[in-house]
Formats: sequence, structure tokens, C-alpha cells
Amino acid sequence: MPTRPCWVEIDTRLVEENFRFLSGLAAPDAELLAVVKADAYGHSLALCAPAAVRAGAGWLGVTSVEEGVAARALCPETRILVIGGAFPGQGPAVVRHRLTAVVWEPWQLEELESAARAAGAASASLPVHLEIDTGMSRQGVASGALAPMLARLVGGSPLRLEGVMTHLFAADEADGAVTAAQLSELQRALHHVEAAGLFPDWLNVGNSAALLAGQARAIAELAGRHGMRAILRPGLALYGLVPGFDPDFTASVPQPLAAARAALKPVLTWKTRVVSVREVPAGAVVGYNGTFVATEPMRLALIAAGYADGLDRRLGNRFSLLVRGQRAPLAGRVSMDQSVLDVTGILGVAPGDEVVLLGTQGGDSITAFDHAEAVGAIPWQIFTGIGARVTRIRV
Ligand SMILES: *Cc1c(COP(=O)(O)O)cnc(C)c1O
Repeated sequence: MPTRPCWVEIDTRLVEENFRFLSGLAAPDAELLAVVKADAYGHSLALCAPAAVRAGAGWLGVTSVEEGVAARALCPETRILVIGGAFPGQGPAVVRHRLTAVVWEPWQLEELESAARAAGAASASLPVHLEIDTGMSRQGVASGALAPMLARLVGGSPLRLEGVMTHLFAADEADGAVTAAQLSELQRALHHVEAAGLFPDWLNVGNSAALLAGQARAIAELAGRHGMRAILRPGLALYGLVPGFDPDFTASVPQPLAAARAALKPVLTWKTRVVSVREVPAGAVVGYNGTFVATEPMRLALIAAGYADGLDRRLGNRFSLLVRGQRAPLAGRVSMDQSVLDVTGILGVAPGDEVVLLGTQGGDSITAFDHAEAVGAIPWQIFTGIGARVTRIRV
């Protein structure tokens, strides 16, 4: 059945191209994990995870065991990292679906150990990645508190320390000072790991900003010094957006960032259609509480997109969308399911016309950064805020 016309188009070929480009930045020392958490940042796990795998991704990153189970159904052979860890009772699903959990709490080890034992797993057979808190104070073990965790992973446990992970929390700061401090802290943790007689395969570090700022080399070298290989974990860049740097690079832009600015292509376009067009006289008010008043006779176009679709309510009266290749301002408040555009200045707008909320139409584009800037958000939040009822279509 045709759906209400509010949809997202995903160019899966661009997901593949972006992944290949990013792999080139990391190679030959490091491998990439494609971050497809939160329904691939709203881009559809079902469309994007297989695309990343077609482009050569050996690893996918999801938030939860639930997302991991969904990813496993789509990608039977790919390694799947559960970044947010397993919750109580989820151990058996981790084992059954061959997921790889990030761990940092003793109770997580217990949960996974008992699930592995119940499934008859051999010793050192269920891989886990241990997260180290190198300064973000969010998730992970402090390097000084590692000993008891490491002690549980040696000798007889069905768990195998396959990876050591950390999250860089200021990789988008151009001076790199915070990242350098985090990598030193990580190095301290790796000494503790070796001293405990554990020799993991993977050092799992770094988001899009780290990769584009040129940190892949430092991370791969740190991994190499400890007999490991590096995994970097780009998310936003996979979907074609280059994260902003603050402060930005002034003198010399790192080569990977300069290349990415030219090469990465946004894969998502968000569209709706004009439902009806009406002429209103001067003085007519538009939308809830009449916050827009027609200053002259005007033409208004109703569109099938509202805040329940992810079009932020704060955009009312302060943002424009694309119709017939031109910018049409949102007139009045954004409603739950509908909004109104002022199309007085755009000739020939008619029911059925395509409206672009995010993406390119004609020669003009609206980016996730534009949406984010207008409402004090970030592109990640704009993408993940596109409603579940908005159909995702592969183009
Ligand atoms: C979401 C996430 C990433 C990807 O971040 P981007 O900035 O989108 O590249 C990487 N690592 C972890 C731990 C994450 O949670």
C-alpha cells in the first residue's frame, strides 16, 4: 500500500562508497567498525548494515543486544559489537546470536559467564571487549581499578579478552591534547593487561572525528607496540557527514579531513509532499495560536510532516524547506503531523509537489547541520530524531 508521503531515501551505494573511502584512511594498519547503532543513526539498519558489509566491513557496532539480534538477522557472518553492553538476563542472547559485548562491570562478566557455561562453552571461547575509562567518566573501568576485572578473565573463564576499548571524548578538538592524554592513559591500562598475562587481539578506539583528524596512525602504533591491531569506529562519517572541529584547524588541515570534506557524500534525503495549497487574505493567522499573520495576500502549502516525524517544533517561523528548488519558510507552528509553508514567492506550487526537509533539491541543499544549528542540537540528534513512522526507502 502506498504510504503517507513522508519518507527518507537512503542511497546505499553512497554508504558503500563512504565506507570504502574511510577504510582507505585507516589502512593498512587499522580496521573499521561500521557504527550502525540507533537504526543506523535513523538511516535504517536493514539498509545500511548490509551495505557496509558489502563494502568490506568486518565489524558492526550497535548499542544493545536487541539491536545486535536485529543486525545478526541481516548479517549472518559479520562481527557485531554491543557498545552499550548486555543487561541482566541478556547473556543467553549474546551467546546464541554470537554477539560481542563490551564489558566493564563485574556483574556483566557474571551474566556472560553463566550464559556461556549454560551453553556448554569451552574455556576462553566467548569474546568480550573490555572498556577502559580513560577520562570521559561515562562507561568503562578506570585503569587503576583493572586488577580485579583482569583476574576474572584469566584461567578457566569461558570469556576471552579479545579487545580493549576506550572512547575518545574530545577527538573533535583540533589541538588533540585531550586525545593524547587519553591514549597515554590507555597505554597504562595495556601494561596492566599484559602484566596479568592477557594478550588481546584488538585495540578498539576512535570515532569519526578521530579518524578524520588523522589519529588512526597513533592508535595503530599504540596497538602495534602491544601486539594488537587497531579498530576505529566511525559513525557519522559513514553517513556522509564530516563532524565539525572546535576549535577548527587553522594553519594545516589534516590530510584525511581535507580528503573527507571532498569525498564523503550524505546518504539521506528526507522528503514529503504538498497536500493542498490555499490563498489567504492579509491578516489571516496560521497554525496553533496564530503565531504567523499574513502581511499581504499569501499562498500557503500544507505538507505531511510534523514534529511526530522529527521535524523539530522549534523550527516554526524560523526555518525554510525546499519546494520547486526554492526555499519556502515554515509559517506558524509545526504541528504533530503537518506544517504549513509560505509559498507566496514560488510560482506554480501544487498538491503532490515534492518537498525536501533535509537533502538536495535543484541546486540547493539543507543539511543536518542546518537543522541542528537552528534548534541548538547536533546532526546525530537530528538524524536519530527522524520518526520511526517515516518510511525508509532504498534508492
Ligand atoms: C556512537 C559511537 C561512535 C561513533 O561516533 P561518531 O562520532 O558518529 O563517529 C564510536 N564509538 C562509540 C563508543 C560510540 O558510542
